[in-house]
Amino acid sequence: MGEGKTRRGIIQASGLAAAGLATGGAGAPGYPPPSPLDAGGVQEGRVAFPPWRGEADPPGEPPPAPLPPGERVGFAVIGLGRISLEQVLPAFASCRLARPTALVSGSPEKAALVARQYGIRPEAVHGYAQLERLRDDPAVQAVYIALPNAMHREYTERAAAIGKHVLTEKPMATSAEDCAAMIAACAQTDVRLMVAYRCQYEQVNRAAIRAVQSGALGRLRFLQAANLQSNGPGPQWRYSRQLAGGGALPDIGLYCLNAARYLSGEEPVEVVAQAWSPPGDARFAEVEESMAFTLRFASGFLAQAQSSYGAYQEKSCRLAGERGSLLLEDAFAYRGQRLRLFRREGDAGLEQMPQLHPRNQFALELDHMARCVRESRRPHTPGEEGLRDQQIMEAIVRSAESGRPEAIPPLPSELPVRGPAPDPA
Ligand code: NAD
Repeated sequence: MGEGKTRRGIIQASGLAAAGLATGGAGAPGYPPPSPLDAGGVQEGRVAFPPWRGEADPPGEPPPAPLPPGERVGFAVIGLGRISLEQVLPAFASCRLARPTALVSGSPEKAALVARQYGIRPEAVHGYAQLERLRDDPAVQAVYIALPNAMHREYTERAAAIGKHVLTEKPMATSAEDCAAMIAACAQTDVRLMVAYRCQYEQVNRAAIRAVQSGALGRLRFLQAANLQSNGPGPQWRYSRQLAGGGALPDIGLYCLNAARYLSGEEPVEVVAQAWSPPGDARFAEVEESMAFTLRFASGFLAQAQSSYGAYQEKSCRLAGERGSLLLEDAFAYRGQRLRLFRREGDAGLEQMPQLHPRNQFALELDHMARCVRESRRPHTPGEEGLRDQQIMEAIVRSAESGRPEAIPPLPSELPVRGPAPDPA
């Protein structure tokens, strides 16, 4: 009796069949056939394997079920700078619903090389002035905009005008007026608009959101977040008010602000802020080097944040509640997030560190956008999310200038700012 035909094998196979798993495989000539447990099978259009490890261990991840490349949502990547080349283009390899199908760049030599690297057709590589050629490319349904902040509005409006859905980098723009115009442009041609708030798709941050929502921490009292880095010499667009809109605040302080909102699920009502730049440093003639701010929420929750281009790198976030607290290490980094939860258990303090399967947060973000395009869904981080942060950042800047607390304008509507939560990774 071959291995696949043993009594145990037959029992397992019938159990798997009852679970709707078409199992088995012929195996290679000259060897015993694989057991159903080893060969796995197809269940509801996905490859699935029965558990091979004992129940004591957490289960492994099922194999991904990517759409065939031709059925995925095609993205034109606009701007081939660091975020596009170092993170986003490589992340498409981990995507299941999204793929890169075109490039828009001002550097033809770089764009041709990148197109070859990612299998993008030479005729799908365009200069900025030729963006409108994407209109007639059925392989492009969406654009991903990774240009300096002040350019996001123009490229969103141009993409929306030719019927392409828009995923734009953060910060959404450099003024609330520009954000509102981007929302209006996308509404007019009924295309989705999403801001690339990758941390809201990253699993460890999402686990922290769930911990807060579960009530395990009790009512929230304080958040302390830092997004600090040491920047190099100019000239670079990040030191230009015209292109960047500001310094550390819109570039990296934004992560702290956004986290205070998505972790608490509340909206701030008032802010006190201080900005500082080293005197005589030409890099900071137009934009701030550092911005510290405290947001007050109606519930009494206070969020304190520090952002700087002139301090050793740190990207941590701490949340204190009445009944427990959490620490998100490397909360805003590209990878390596760790969550620690602290609360009382019996007569002792308890520290827990959930171990999650690592996933690429850029791929999760791109796939979320692709799902929203495919299913005509409102993104979890739509334009309204970017506009809200921009309005708050404008109040932060006003407070830093006036030296006084500044009120944050209330939300214009009761409707939730965010779309439905992303599907579990
Ligand atoms: P970068 O400087 O590395 O790339 C900018 C790209 O824009 C370059 O290819 C450059 O050639 C092009 N460009 C076109 N016109 C330009 C002009 N007038 N001046 C300067 N560059 C011009 O920047 P980056 O770090 O890739 O940032 C791009 C966008 O992505 C920004 O909005 C930034 O805030 C955002 N970003 C997001 C993340 C994230 O984690 N989500 C990380 C970094 C940057």
